[in-house]
Amino acid sequence: MGCGNKPEVSPDAVVVEKSMWVTAYCHCEKCTSWTMDSSGRPVFTSGSEKGKRKEIGITASGEYAKKGTIAAPSKYPFGTVMYVPGYGWGTVQDRGGAIKGDKLDLYFKSHKKALEWGRKNMKVTIYLD
Ligand SMILES: [Zn+2]
Repeated sequence: MGCGNKPEVSPDAVVVEKSMWVTAYCHCEKCTSWTMDSSGRPVFTSGSEKGKRKEIGITASGEYAKKGTIAAPSKYPFGTVMYVPGYGWGTVQDRGGAIKGDKLDLYFKSHKKALEWGRKNMKVTIYLD
C-alpha cells in the first residue's frame, strides 16, 4: 500500500469539511515529549503519562507511527479517515496533550519535515463513521 492511497472508508461515512489548525510532529523528544531516564529508558516528560515508559514511534492507539498518522482530539475516534491538502490521506491513530479544539497534528518521518510544515489553517475533509 502506498502513502497516497485512500484508506478504506465506510460507505455510510458522513463527509464533513472543516477549517482546522494543522501542525506537524515526528517521533523525536521535542515533538512527543519524552526523555531518557537515568537507566536509559525513554519516559514521558509531560501530560498524564508523565514519568511512564514511552514506546518510541508507537501511537496512542498502539500502531506504529507512519506517514498518514494523525493525532486528533478525542471527539475523532481512532480510525477516522481524513484528507489534508498538501499531506494527503491520513487516519487518526494518536492523541496529544496539546491537542484541543479543532486542531490536528500530522506525523512526519523527520523533524526537519515536521518543521517545514509549520502551522497552517486549512479545510480538512473528515469521514465520520
Ligand atoms: Zn520532532
